[in-house]
Amino acid sequence: MVTFNLMITAEVDNVSSIQPMGGCDDPNFTYYFKLKCGNCGEVTEKETYVVLGEVVPIPKSRGNANLVQKCKLCGRDGTITMIPKSGRPLTGDDCEEGKYAPMMSFDCRGLEPVAYSFGGDQWKIVTTAGTVFENVDLSDGDWADYDEKGKMPTSISNLQSRFDVVKT
Ligand SMILES: [Zn+2]
Repeated sequence: MVTFNLMITAEVDNVSSIQPMGGCDDPNFTYYFKLKCGNCGEVTEKETYVVLGEVVPIPKSRGNANLVQKCKLCGRDGTITMIPKSGRPLTGDDCEEGKYAPMMSFDCRGLEPVAYSFGGDQWKIVTTAGTVFENVDLSDGDWADYDEKGKMPTSISNLQSRFDVVKT
């Protein structure tokens, strides 16, 4: 089993934090990515998704996982199990320093997540004036709005993500 952390960063203007609507452990927040088979290296064409609140039984096991998928090329089964309490919001300070923030950890058996995409309209953005924008869609890789309270433009651009292997 290998654990991967989804790490994200961005360039921001007047933004103090970016996170899923209900926090990183939001049971309904959808994480989208492709899968690479750990056996043959095949990468899925389509994106798959996992949600913390959705689990399925693992075949020939008593356990559950957030995803069980068979590789189309070699037929090997793989599982992904999400680990709550492993993420935190991406802050304006992180972005300023070019640092990545962990959103969620994934325990992976037989496959690994690659090419995360910022799908869905489930992001919560707080500006430096404390204004909250809800259900923001970041799938285009950027976002801009006007903060009436702070009387300033606010924006996110150049969203970046990667999966880091967690060393144990
Ligand atoms: Zn395979």
